Amino acid sequence: MRTQIFGDIRVDTIPEYDWAVDGEWLLAGASNEVIGEHAHWLGPSLVDPETLHLKGSSHAYLIRTRHHTILFDTCCGNDKERPYYLPWHRLRTSFLENLAHAGVLPEQVDYVMCSHLHADHIGWNTLLKDGKWVPTFPNARYLMSKGEFEYWRDVIESGEVGPSRKLPFDDSILPVVQHGLATFVEDDHAVENEFPDEVRYFPLHGHTPHHCGLYLRSKSQDAIFSGDAIHHPIQFAEPDWVNGNDHIMGRQVIRDLIGRLIDTPTKLLTAHFPAPAVGRVVSDAGHVRFRFDRD
Ligand SMILES: [Zn+2]
Repeated sequence: MRTQIFGDIRVDTIPEYDWAVDGEWLLAGASNEVIGEHAHWLGPSLVDPETLHLKGSSHAYLIRTRHHTILFDTCCGNDKERPYYLPWHRLRTSFLENLAHAGVLPEQVDYVMCSHLHADHIGWNTLLKDGKWVPTFPNARYLMSKGEFEYWRDVIESGEVGPSRKLPFDDSILPVVQHGLATFVEDDHAVENEFPDEVRYFPLHGHTPHHCGLYLRSKSQDAIFSGDAIHHPIQFAEPDWVNGNDHIMGRQVIRDLIGRLIDTPTKLLTAHFPAPAVGRVVSDAGHVRFRFDRD
C-alpha cells in the first residue's frame, strides 16, 4: 500500500493482485522480439527475463479529500464468474481487508468512479451476499459515464459483444443501477470543484468509447489517473502499441499524455503498472521514460 499527499488530498493505492502476461496478447502491435530489446532498461520488475511477459498489477485508488472519500476503479472483485479469462474466474483476494488497512470501511465510501466498464475496473462495485450481487459500498453514489453505460448496454442488448462483456455488466453494473445508487454523468464531471481542490473525470477516449481517467489538483499539486489509457511503461517507448477498441484514438491519447506530462511535476497514477504504479513521465537521453516514485 502506498500513500501520497497532494495538497489537502490523500491518495492510497489499494492492491488487488499482481500478474504477468504475454505482451503480444496485451498490446496490439507488440512483438516479443522488440520487448526483448527493451527488457534491459525496463528491468525484471517490469519484464520477466525468462518469458518476456509484461508484469502488471490490479489496484484501486482511494482518494480522501476534505469532504469526500472516493474510490477510483474497483478491480476484478471476488467470486465473479469469468470462465472466459481464468485469472479472474472466481478470484478471491483480500481487497476489502486492504481497504480497511487504509482506514476505510465500505460504508464510508461516498463516491465510486470507474474509468470504464471492463471487468477488471468494476468488480468490487458488488459482492456476493446470500447468492445475490449487491452493492459493496451501500452509502456511495456510483458515478458512471452516461456515454460508457449506454454504449455497453446497447452492444450487449444487440448481441454485438459476448459473455465477456455481458457477465460483468450483469453482475457489477446492473445491481448498482437496480439499487438506485448509480448516477450517470458527463465525461468531465467534477466531484470536488471548490478551490483549491479539484477532482474530476478526465476524458481519455479510445480504450473504450467513453473511457475516462481522473484529474486531481490541490494547492497546485496535481495528478492524472490514466485508467487503461496505458497498460505498461514499455508503451512510452512504443506508443503505437495499444490495447482497446480504437487503436488510432488510443495511440493519440498516449501521445497527448506524453506531451502534457513530460518533464513536469504532474504525477501519473496508472491502473496497471506494477507497484508503486505511480511516477512521472520524463525525457532521458532522447527517450521517453516512466520514472517510478521510490521512497
Ligand atoms: Zn484494465
